[in-house]
Amino acid sequence: MKREELEAVRKAIREASLVLIGASNGLDMAEGLNIFAPDAHYLQSYGDLAKVSGARCILEGLASATKDPLRSWAWGARFARLEWLGYESGPVMEPLRTLLGEKDAFAITSNIDSRLKSAGFSSEHVLETEGSVSEMVCSSHCREERYPSEGAVRTLDASIAAGRVDASLIPVCPHCGAPLELALDEARMLHPDAEALRRLDTLRQLCDRHKGRSIVVLELGVGRYNGTVKQLLAKAVAGRRNVTYVVFNYSDVVFPAGFEDRCIGIGGDMAEAFQELL
Ligand SMILES: [Zn+2]
Repeated sequence: MKREELEAVRKAIREASLVLIGASNGLDMAEGLNIFAPDAHYLQSYGDLAKVSGARCILEGLASATKDPLRSWAWGARFARLEWLGYESGPVMEPLRTLLGEKDAFAITSNIDSRLKSAGFSSEHVLETEGSVSEMVCSSHCREERYPSEGAVRTLDASIAAGRVDASLIPVCPHCGAPLELALDEARMLHPDAEALRRLDTLRQLCDRHKGRSIVVLELGVGRYNGTVKQLLAKAVAGRRNVTYVVFNYSDVVFPAGFEDRCIGIGGDMAEAFQELL
């Protein structure tokens, strides 16, 4: 049964002129990053920060520090250096890139680690619904400008002592002088900034350009409660006839309403499925 489903997915991707991707924690987990667990990677790479804050996993660490900018930068810079700058395409991303080839593609992700861009997706074709550690914004929000974070991430991570970064090394806003912070915002799509609106527009234009042709949606480990990614995907293909909607999810394959007859569900290990798809 699974072999037949994978064959159908392979065929849908081959025939599609546009591929839309939705990604969430499940994609990172399939590639070995678990932000919910005190696993060996966490203890080894975040142990010094955990000792200070008591956080039991990466997610808790990132969330626990929001009231203290020096601790917040410490968790953010460490996470960015390891999980974004230190990332190499893994057992899902590699085959995904190969399967897509030169096809038009657009990705919507709630992951903040910018890995789709690291794996070769152009920035204009990735919408990060909760922001990304690859960019910074003014902490006073005087402008909507975003600034690249790589230099700051490396410098600040190297400055961490007793769970905090060196305050004198935090870059400041060129307009108002307030400290910059990583461009993270769980509710970004409730109040999208100019850049997010531009990406939504790019997505609309892509879908228009491929009107009447085949579209495949690949949902990669998006939890059933991640409404934002699912809704944006469903909205992008609403009313289209030639859509195949593929849901990859380890144990929780849920088909979006209205697309049940055009859905393919692939449960179990996503990395294994992608190896087989090649
Ligand atoms: Zn400012």
